[in-house]
Amino acid sequence: MDVLNTSSIMFAVIGDPIKHSMSPIMMNHAFNISGFNGVYTSSLVKSDQLGAAIEGIRALGFGGVNVTIPHKVDVMSYCDDIHEDARAIGAVNTIVNDNGKLIGYNTDGIGYVRSLMEETGTDIKDKVIVMVGAGGAARGVVYALSLQQPKEIVIANRTLAKAEQLADGIHDVPTRAISLDSVSHDIINEADIIINNTSVGMYPHIDETPINLHEIVKPVIVSDLIYNPLETKWLREAKAKGCVTHSGLGMFIYQGAYAFEYWTKKQAPVEEMRKVVYESLQNRSKE
Ligand code: NAP
Repeated sequence: MDVLNTSSIMFAVIGDPIKHSMSPIMMNHAFNISGFNGVYTSSLVKSDQLGAAIEGIRALGFGGVNVTIPHKVDVMSYCDDIHEDARAIGAVNTIVNDNGKLIGYNTDGIGYVRSLMEETGTDIKDKVIVMVGAGGAARGVVYALSLQQPKEIVIANRTLAKAEQLADGIHDVPTRAISLDSVSHDIINEADIIINNTSVGMYPHIDETPINLHEIVKPVIVSDLIYNPLETKWLREAKAKGCVTHSGLGMFIYQGAYAFEYWTKKQAPVEEMRKVVYESLQNRSKE
C-alpha cells in the first residue's frame, strides 16, 4: 500500500529514547509488502506521559503499539487485559487495540526462540542451556525457552541476586543461578546452547566479550541477543572455535513478526523484514 488514506490504520513504537529504533522501517515495509493499509511511526514518550499515551491509542483508534525501554513493565498497569505469557514474564512489548480493549502481549521471548530454532535448526527439548545475563530481555527469553522443555537452564549473572530471582520464577525446568565469575570450562562444555543476554559487546563497546568460552570440546550453539553490531566479537570467537552462531537480528525480526501477525491477522513477510533491517543496519555502520 503506497497511498495512505482515511482507512489507514496507525501503529507506533513508544519508548525513551526512540530515535534509533529500526521498527518503523521494518514494519512499514512489512505493511507494504503485505498490502495492509497501515502506517507505523515512533513516539518519544516520557515516563510521566505513559498513561496519557496509552489512553491516546484508544482515543485515536490506533491498531496497536510496540513498547520499548523503559516502559515494558509500567505499561502493564494501563492494559485492559494481559496475555498469560506476558503476565508470567512481567513485561509487555506489544499492545493490540481490539475494538477499544487494549491487550498486552510479550513477543520478545517467543520471537527469540522461533529465531533460534529456525536459524540454527536446533530443537531445544532436552538441551542444557547457559544463559549469561539476567536483565529485562533475559526474562522473556528464559520463560520462552522453559516452555520448550530443555534439560537444564543455568543462569550466570554479574549480580547473582538477579540471576537467583530469575531462576526462582522458572518452575517446570531444573534451573540454577551462578555468578558470572563461576562460568568454568566444565559449565561451558556441559552446555548445548550458550546465550549472551547482556549488553556486553554492543555498539560502541564492540571489543568487549561477556564470558570466556574456554576450549570447547563438543558442538555447541552460541547465541547473542545483540544485533548492533550484526556479529559481535564474542560470536566471531565462537565461530573460530567451530561453534554454530546465532545473532540477535532474528529476535528483533520475529518479535516484530509476531506483533504484525497479532495486528493484521496475516502471516508476516519475515524474509523481507530481515532484508530491510539488515540493509539499514549495514548502511548505519558505514555512516
Ligand atoms: P538490562 O535489563 O539493562 O540488562 C543488562 C544485563 O547485562 C544484566 O544482566 C547486566 O548484569 C548485564 N551487564 C551489563 N553490563 C555488564 C558488564 N559490564 N559486565 C557483566 N554484565 C553486564 O538490558 P536488556 O534490556 O536485558 O538488554 C540486554 C541486551 O539484549 C542488550 O544488548 C540489548 O540490545 C539486547 N536486546 C536485544 C533484543 C533483540 O531484539 N535482539 C531485544 C531486547 C534486548 P547486572 O544484572 O549485573 O547489572
